[in-house]
Amino acid sequence: MDDVKQLVSRLTLEEKASLCSGLDFWHTKGVQRLGIAPVMLTDGPHGLRKQEQKSDHMGLNKSVPATCFPTASATACSWDRELMREIGVALGEECIRHDVAVLLGPGANIKRSPLCGRNFEYISEDPYLTGEMAAALIQGIQSMGVGTSLKHYALNNQEDRRMTINAVVDERTLREIYLAGFEKAVKQSQPWTVMCAYNRVNGTYCSENNKLLNDILRDEWGFEGLVVTDWGACNDRVEGLAAGQDLEMPASGGMNDRLIIEAVQAGRLSKAALDKAVERVLSMVLRWAEHKEAACDMDAHHLLARRAAAQSAVLLKMEGSILPLSRGGNIAVIGEFAKKPRYQGSGSSLINPARLECAFDEILSYAPDAVYAAGYSVASDEPQEELIREACEAASRADVAVIFVGLPNSYESEGFDREHMRLPGAHTALIEQVAKANPNTVVVLSNGSPVEMPWLAEVKAVLEGYLGGQAGGGALADVLFGVVNPSGKLAETFPVKLQDVLASKYFPMGPKAVEYREGLFVGYRWFDASGKVPLFPFGHGLSYTTFEYSELKVEREHVAAGEEVSVSLTVRNNGSAAGQETVQLYVRDVQSTVFRPEKELKGFCKVQLATGEEKRITFTLDKRAFAFYNTEISAWQVESGEFELLAGASSVDIRLKGKVFVESCEMPLPDLCQSAVYFDIKSAEQGIPDGDFEALYGKVPQQNKRLPGELYDINSTIGDFKATFTGKVLHQMVLYGMNKILGGGDNGGMRRMVIRMVDYMPLRSLVLMSQGKFSHATAEALLLIMNKRRLKGVGCLVWSFAGKK
Ligand code: BGC
Repeated sequence: MDDVKQLVSRLTLEEKASLCSGLDFWHTKGVQRLGIAPVMLTDGPHGLRKQEQKSDHMGLNKSVPATCFPTASATACSWDRELMREIGVALGEECIRHDVAVLLGPGANIKRSPLCGRNFEYISEDPYLTGEMAAALIQGIQSMGVGTSLKHYALNNQEDRRMTINAVVDERTLREIYLAGFEKAVKQSQPWTVMCAYNRVNGTYCSENNKLLNDILRDEWGFEGLVVTDWGACNDRVEGLAAGQDLEMPASGGMNDRLIIEAVQAGRLSKAALDKAVERVLSMVLRWAEHKEAACDMDAHHLLARRAAAQSAVLLKMEGSILPLSRGGNIAVIGEFAKKPRYQGSGSSLINPARLECAFDEILSYAPDAVYAAGYSVASDEPQEELIREACEAASRADVAVIFVGLPNSYESEGFDREHMRLPGAHTALIEQVAKANPNTVVVLSNGSPVEMPWLAEVKAVLEGYLGGQAGGGALADVLFGVVNPSGKLAETFPVKLQDVLASKYFPMGPKAVEYREGLFVGYRWFDASGKVPLFPFGHGLSYTTFEYSELKVEREHVAAGEEVSVSLTVRNNGSAAGQETVQLYVRDVQSTVFRPEKELKGFCKVQLATGEEKRITFTLDKRAFAFYNTEISAWQVESGEFELLAGASSVDIRLKGKVFVESCEMPLPDLCQSAVYFDIKSAEQGIPDGDFEALYGKVPQQNKRLPGELYDINSTIGDFKATFTGKVLHQMVLYGMNKILGGGDNGGMRRMVIRMVDYMPLRSLVLMSQGKFSHATAEALLLIMNKRRLKGVGCLVWSFAGKK
């Protein structure tokens, strides 16, 4: 630290300001005269995306070959902290090999709706699981002396309008659902950096949100690292710096550095705030200088990717003994995904995989006589009769039909949200027809987030592979043939239909704000409260063996809040194959003055057991396991009383119960809206009334619609401008530019992503991302024109082109 302070003291004001923004798309700036070198930060999170030539934050241009691990929605289902650490170490090794100081990830945003386009990159609907898995990955990467960036802090839960949307959320929901995962990861693993999100939270951009960055992240949670903006998320640079945002990425052509210098000179920004930000940037640079030397065995990483995908696959349904398949069996492999796998998501996390396995080839190694039929074309949603007919014929001649279906790239991606939860029509029709041709039908899914399954009753088994990474094909074959006994459990609820999710009425929202009206009722918390039956519950996953839970013991019957409580139980493999089981521990406040969800996950433990083997496992619960966030005292608080401790194989399959009385002397307990359920659960599905949400939020939320005659400003989006003639032209020009970058080919999801990104891009981003080539003066002039001050606007435009203010 002294070294850093010393270095800072030797920097000029200009050098300090320059260190607060990127050199280019991926590097920090250096200061040659002091031997400070630029360092590279790049994506992440499930593999390295290092671009050596053209750069972008959408995965458009090529990157170096790297191991593509399963995405977070998959690895979350492993419920295996050790596996996450191992993946982290491998990622760290690849970063070192390619001279990358910080890998941008993991993503810890909560899956508020199954439709968020980026759910494949996120861990869970539950903050406890999110925090534990994110912390483990961070620990693994950082153990190699490579940094991470916990992202996107916070409430980037929808992709539509992510660059400007205002997330309106009440304090208790914010703390208990949306921040708790970040909090856990920060406290347990101290990521080198936290990436602030594009959106606003309760009115203020995350990049200049003093409450989020300074008060909560640093002062309350003790975060010691640096806050970097998401790429292009900086709004007001000076406000941002004062609020705790240290590094703006990517480069903004020196524009914002100048603003920092002017603000310090004019006394609008304290020198101390700037020094602090520079200290944090330099600490990161110096930490990276101490990274380990590491071997980087790409073959070993590939095997790890295969093991990870196999550990993460979730056996959702199985009738009789249809699985595992017999080696050498007569199998029809159906569906183009079996040959052209969907194994990762589109956008900034897109990896150029070092290798790629396809399921059909891998199945051939277990069943050399297996036959293949495409069944559908990845390029089309429409059922193609001929392909379906061929598939049915192949299925009718086989003992078992295994159909590979899922979501194509164009369905889910960074940059836009899904519009529904259905599979492509071609996939649904294929399943329905094949299941008729052969009753022994198994469905294998490749998708980043839940889908509806109207055909579920017609098939014998369903294996959820999520997006399994470069070795996903082999991993699925391993599970299908029983080389690996499935042990994945869902990290999110699969609803029967979208409308069963309470948030679905308020997701996505815009143009200005998205209201988190459902409050704490996210994921299983809503299914528990409403009594709705999910298609598959949170925590669910089958195995080729069975497990028995017994002898739950709570160490003490009575504890004081703040004391730890141990809960132990025995798990026994009473089936006929070795396997792994994840035991989940939920806590229920039996009687409470304050509204509490029915139960909440507070522990989990994965055990490996041979046939007939049993093990005793222990959970330790601390104060937080019993606490709620009391907004009246701005602190976590426990209410005295009895708590049930529920050990389950899923959120609905509770096998054992225990109880403990927790004595708390913390007062006062809150009243008002927290003391009861804050809306009527029975009628909530019809909509949560404005008044109820206002009461929960504590004030009238921001007006969501654009008002007639409302002026455009620098944060209005290119899509909004389309209502004006000038805006239409601007939109076309930006789109043309983006399309040129994309090239002529049909990139499926990517083209859609680019179109939506242009629509949702605020004018300020055009200035920043063009590094001032599209100048601030030009933007202001266009705003004048679009705000009907045409004469003045045209004059300013001419001046701006002439390079004058
Ligand atoms: C994404 C980040 C990513 C960054 C750099 C942004 O668009 O939201 O997750 O790390 O680009 O590619």
